[in-house]
Amino acid sequence: MPVTPEKKLQAGTVSSVYGPVLSWRVGWSLGIDLICETSVCSFNCIYCQLGNIQRHTAERRLFVPTDQVMGDLRESDWRKADIVTFSGSGEPTLALNVGEALRGVKAQTGKPTLVLTNGTTLGDPAVRADLADSDKVFVKLDAATEATFQRVNRPVEGITLAKIFEWTRAFKAAYRGFLGIQCMFLPANLREAESFVDVLKAIGPDEVQLNTPRRPYPDAWYLASRGSHGDVPYPARPLKTLSVRQAEGLEAMLRARTGLPIVSVYQPIGGNRG
Ligand code: SF4
Repeated sequence: MPVTPEKKLQAGTVSSVYGPVLSWRVGWSLGIDLICETSVCSFNCIYCQLGNIQRHTAERRLFVPTDQVMGDLRESDWRKADIVTFSGSGEPTLALNVGEALRGVKAQTGKPTLVLTNGTTLGDPAVRADLADSDKVFVKLDAATEATFQRVNRPVEGITLAKIFEWTRAFKAAYRGFLGIQCMFLPANLREAESFVDVLKAIGPDEVQLNTPRRPYPDAWYLASRGSHGDVPYPARPLKTLSVRQAEGLEAMLRARTGLPIVSVYQPIGGNRG
């Protein structure tokens, strides 16, 4: 059924919990959307599945009260999920209650938790303390040079790749959970793939995840895009992706030169590539 674009949702009219949806990295993933208002992010990535970010900001604030999140969770299919993932309509750590919600979800479900972040708030000790309560944290890293970072991720003013690199290293040094680094490869950053080697080795994550933008880019913001996989029921254009051969070459090069565990969206494990 076709869906219509949204400008801004009325508070409390949409569940902050969605799915579970099948993810190639973590299996059946229940999504928690702590923003649930419009798309809000400190990046505006050229490949974002949410389309052009509606509110481009690094300001942290409360969007969805934790009580509402917990109520939405009770009404959801959380028992069918392998993991509960904080992602949704933008950068989840911009929500001031991310730590409180993480602890509440864990207490209610006992499921593993995961936060997907672009790393722009990791310089804040309060955010690092909140994320310490998540079983897994995946940080986005799509560039090895400042110029590519600005071109691909289009951050808010003042955010640099150098800062995110240092903040991620500081977070890794203290974090007791599982740290993944997510790299989205597209033609714009493939040419500097070798420059990722030193960056990844310096961070030393538990896993590097190679992806390519297989989710199309919407022409506007649609709530349904927060959990989109494959075909979408709204106008969206496909993006340039790596070929299987390019991805295999990249994976082999990074595995050999970093010595780190590398997983790729193109690896044929069980067909679970949502
Ligand atoms: S960090 Fe994530 S939510 Fe933000 S613009 Fe990039 S892909 Fe979209």
